[in-house]
Amino acid sequence: MLRRTEIDPNEPLGESPRVIGHYVGEEPGPLVVAIGGIHGNEPAGVAALEQLFDLLREEPLVNPGFTFRGELLALRGNLEALRLGKRYVDTDLNRIWRPVVRGTDDSYPNVEARELDGMLAAIDNALVDSSVQEIVLLDLHTTTATGGVFAITGDDAPSLSLAAELGVPVVKGMLSGLQGTTLSYFRSGQYDLERPCRAVTFEAGAHTEAESVDRALAATVNLLRSVGCVRTEDVSTHHEETLRAANPGVPPLLELVYVHRLEPDHGFVMRPGYSNFTPVKEGTILGEDHNGPIGAPCSGYVLMPLYQEQGGEGFFIVQRYDSSASY
Ligand SMILES: [Zn+2]
Repeated sequence: MLRRTEIDPNEPLGESPRVIGHYVGEEPGPLVVAIGGIHGNEPAGVAALEQLFDLLREEPLVNPGFTFRGELLALRGNLEALRLGKRYVDTDLNRIWRPVVRGTDDSYPNVEARELDGMLAAIDNALVDSSVQEIVLLDLHTTTATGGVFAITGDDAPSLSLAAELGVPVVKGMLSGLQGTTLSYFRSGQYDLERPCRAVTFEAGAHTEAESVDRALAATVNLLRSVGCVRTEDVSTHHEETLRAANPGVPPLLELVYVHRLEPDHGFVMRPGYSNFTPVKEGTILGEDHNGPIGAPCSGYVLMPLYQEQGGEGFFIVQRYDSSASY
C-alpha cells in the first residue's frame, strides 16, 4: 500500500499554495521534484501536475497492485506571477537560481527571490529525515511559439540519457548559455553533496495549446517510469503516443550554439512566422532592433523565438549534435 503525506482527499490542491502534492511511496527510491509555473504565463505544467495527483489518488483503487518507489514532490513555481498571468513580476525566476541573500531586515530583494526561497524551503522540507537516494528535478515549461516539444538538460550523461527517454528532441549546451536556471542549480556535487542529482527541463508546446497540459503530464509520467518510481506495466502507452505525436521531426540530440541576448530598451522585434525548430540559413534576417536588422549568425534551427513582451533572449539557435564526433 501507499503512504501519502500532505494529501488530503478533500483538498485537491494540496496543503499549501506552493505544494501541489507530496507523494511518498512505501519503497525506497529517488525524490522527483516536479515544478510547474516557474514562469507565471505558463500554467500548463501546474495543471498537468494537479491532474497527476488526481490520478495518483485514483490509481490504487483501479489498480490494486500499484506501487510507488521513492517520492514525488510537485510544486507551483512563481505564485505571484501565476496569479497575474505574467512571465515574472520583477525578474525572471529561471535566471536567479542561486542561494537567496536576504536584507538585514530579512526582506527579499524582489518578488522572485521570495518565490525561490519558498521553493527551496519546500524541497528542503521534503528532504528532512528522508531516505531518498537520488534527487531528480523536472521543470515544466511552455513557449510562446508553436512547434516546440523538447527537453533541455545539462551536459552530464545521466541527465542526457534520462531526457532521451522522454522520446522528444533533447537540447544540450544550455548550461553554458544561460546562468541561474534550475538546470544549473540541480547538479550533482552542487545542490546536494551526498546524493546524485539529475535535472531535465521539459517544454510542452505553446502556452495556449490545450495539448500542452497532456504533454506535460505524459512527460512527467514517463519520467517517473524512467527513474523507477512506477513500473512500466502501470504506465499507459497513451503517454508515449502523446509525446511521439508531438515530435517535430528534428535530430534527437541538438546542441545550443547561439543565444541572442537582449539589452534593456533594445526594441527587439522578432520577424513573424517562426516556430520552434524552423530551419534557418546563416544570414537569414530573424528580427530587428534599434540598431537595424538581426541575421542568424549560423545555420541551424531557431528555438524559442520571442513573441511576448517579457524575456531576456530574442531567440536561440541549435544544431544537430553528433556525439560520435566529439569523443
Ligand atoms: Zn518558461
